[in-house]
Amino acid sequence: MIQLPDQLTAEAGRPHTWPAGLAALLATLLVSPFLLAGCGGPEQVPAPQSQPVRRDLAADVFARLQDALADRDAKAAAALGDDRGSPLLGDVAANAEALDVRDVSFRMIDEDPVLTATLPRGQWAAAVEATWRFDGFDRAPARAEVTMILAQEGERIRLHAIGGGARPVPLWLAGPLEVRRTADTLVLVAGPAANADRYAQLARRAVPAVEAVVGGHPRVVVEVPAGPADLDRTLGARTGDYAAIAAVTTFVGSDRADLAPVHVFVNPEVFGALKSAGAQLVMTHELTHVATDAVHSKAPQWLLEGYADHVALHGTDLPVSMTAGQIIRRVRRDGVPKALPGADEFDTRATHLGAWYEAAWRAAEVLARAGTEEQLLTFYRRASGGEPVDATLRELYGFDETELIRRWQQDLEQIAR
Ligand SMILES: [Zn+2]
Repeated sequence: MIQLPDQLTAEAGRPHTWPAGLAALLATLLVSPFLLAGCGGPEQVPAPQSQPVRRDLAADVFARLQDALADRDAKAAAALGDDRGSPLLGDVAANAEALDVRDVSFRMIDEDPVLTATLPRGQWAAAVEATWRFDGFDRAPARAEVTMILAQEGERIRLHAIGGGARPVPLWLAGPLEVRRTADTLVLVAGPAANADRYAQLARRAVPAVEAVVGGHPRVVVEVPAGPADLDRTLGARTGDYAAIAAVTTFVGSDRADLAPVHVFVNPEVFGALKSAGAQLVMTHELTHVATDAVHSKAPQWLLEGYADHVALHGTDLPVSMTAGQIIRRVRRDGVPKALPGADEFDTRATHLGAWYEAAWRAAEVLARAGTEEQLLTFYRRASGGEPVDATLRELYGFDETELIRRWQQDLEQIAR
């Protein structure tokens, strides 16, 4: 928890328990007559509000915003913002309606003195716990600590902006969105309508592709921020964490519980540069992660990524020179890798990231060739549940991990020839 030193009241040299009216009078005495004339009278020069007062006012703003969003009342939401905040809150209300947002709550955690110190006088930052859920897709509310920038206007508090500091800015709270939905897909895009149509089509096509291999009834939410920096902000990630990746399947907000929402987040700069076949592969790959609850899996990463590519490439007839081009070049240059790729190789900042994904896919293909599709899914599910890879391999395939690696190296040598 953080506490704001009582900066504003300390500067004014008075305890914060003074009556507001008297404080206002005192404050006006410090302002030049020229300024008073220029802004239309002493009653419009705001006295800095004391911490308890402004916190109460802010809590009231959050409660009203909560109600306005629940009522889908864009006008009431917009009325809670200042010049800059008002259009944003109108957009947020429109998003709430389009996304069928439920269980919205904003709870004041504390003021953020470090961030407040960087803001213009009269503005201050609050850490706020937000919850929300996209109805029909999220089984439980997402939870995130977000920053709200508040501005004092006379005796009132208005919302100036959402975001700031290292806290995430959920995409639906960040600005206007294009939303596309079917029964199984919900796509939200901070960008032109044509982009939203493209992502929506990719998501729609991924559903039957995943269903055909994994079964079940996959449903997916795809979030597309405006650019890489916006993706970092959406996820509360370090700058550049996702610069090299096209998309990531991860938790929405900070909650990691079993039912916590998991969405696909797109880096539009990388994803947008993909041709249609590549874009579909990425989308189907990510939907496989969602459908198999990969975020809670205990399986090794090569299996998670390799299986997702196996599903994405299933039934396609793309040449291996294209789907494994990077690992082929690497094998030709350095020979076959000694071990299956692990956490270091799959680090989003690692070099040759693409080659390791391809290598993991080839390991999944070795298993796919050694047995049935159902066997591979069983292996994937049991490893995801935490069963040891070696023993499960022996039981299902009759060979151990050492033999898997040997066959995998053989496969890589063969495709690199
Ligand atoms: Zn993946």
